Amino acid sequence: MRPLRRPRRRDALDARTARYLARKTRQARLVAPHDPWIERTWKSFGRTVARRRIDEALDAFAFGKCAYCEQVDAQDIEHFRPRSACPSRMLAWKNFLRSCSVCNGAKHDQFPRDAMGRRLLIEPCEDDPLDYFEWDLRTGATGLNPDPDRRARAETTRDVLRLDRIMDERLEKIQTVLFLLGQVLLETPVSPELRHLLQAHLSIRRPYLGIVRQLFVRPPEEYRELVRDAQEKLPEIRDWIDPWR
Ligand SMILES: [Zn+2]
Repeated sequence: MRPLRRPRRRDALDARTARYLARKTRQARLVAPHDPWIERTWKSFGRTVARRRIDEALDAFAFGKCAYCEQVDAQDIEHFRPRSACPSRMLAWKNFLRSCSVCNGAKHDQFPRDAMGRRLLIEPCEDDPLDYFEWDLRTGATGLNPDPDRRARAETTRDVLRLDRIMDERLEKIQTVLFLLGQVLLETPVSPELRHLLQAHLSIRRPYLGIVRQLFVRPPEEYRELVRDAQEKLPEIRDWIDPWR
């Protein structure tokens, strides 16, 4: 998981789609939670032009990746605040995230809160996941920030979304990047092939950048020298990671 920048509604959506969402939202405000109208309306929304426009707008800032697990080819519209409990947000742009069907299915209509009523799920457009997660670069496991408040949110998010089901994929990703950075230090001059391969692995379109972001933004002690030296030798790395760091 990495931070996402959701554009403002007026910048992301055409006027017609925005009007459609506003009209449906006015209707939804009159509907009680769990009313059958909610699922009926959501189902018919799936066949509208507005739905296609929302898909395009989500993909424009999420690059087709799941906002939670970062798998590519994510196609679901996820309601951060579940539509069943919050019908007024069923068609609210700020409540939409792109997600894969596995994360969407795992979260379903859960929206856990702590004893003070504060939400316990991380919202990647509002929170920086690195304030909560400390991934283990040797196993790919999702570590938790030890601060009690942050830990509760990190643990709940990891468990509700079952984020460690992709531990192996995350590990493979970070191992590949670490290997390529190591090669940068070994090769003089750095070959165009290596440069191309590293750039491709650091592209914003690639999955599992959250753990790679941790390597560059908050590198664990043992990797600090490698990250610093590789960036000194190949300054373009900064440009490649800039769109998502
Ligand atoms: Zn996912």
